[in-house]
Amino acid sequence: MANCFLCGRKNPPDVRQVRRKVKTGEWIRKRYQSPRVNSTQSHFGMRIVCPSCAKFLDRQQIKSELWKHAGVLALLFGLFILMMFLH
Ligand SMILES: [Zn+2]
Repeated sequence: MANCFLCGRKNPPDVRQVRRKVKTGEWIRKRYQSPRVNSTQSHFGMRIVCPSCAKFLDRQQIKSELWKHAGVLALLFGLFILMMFLH
């Protein structure tokens, strides 16, 4: 029996263990005596989560995918408008 990586709830043993890609850590590189952050690196890994957290993560992923597509569509639409103006 494993605990959920996100909320810490115990997963019931009869439920199939669900794994999702979650952020496991973050590296922030800074130069000494400088407030500027040089680089940030996020680490992701597959962790066991409970079904409700899995649902939440899935919904978040779908949302971000939709926004990506919306961005591409907006860009294409912008190009289309530009072409209309140029002709
Ligand atoms: Zn959970």
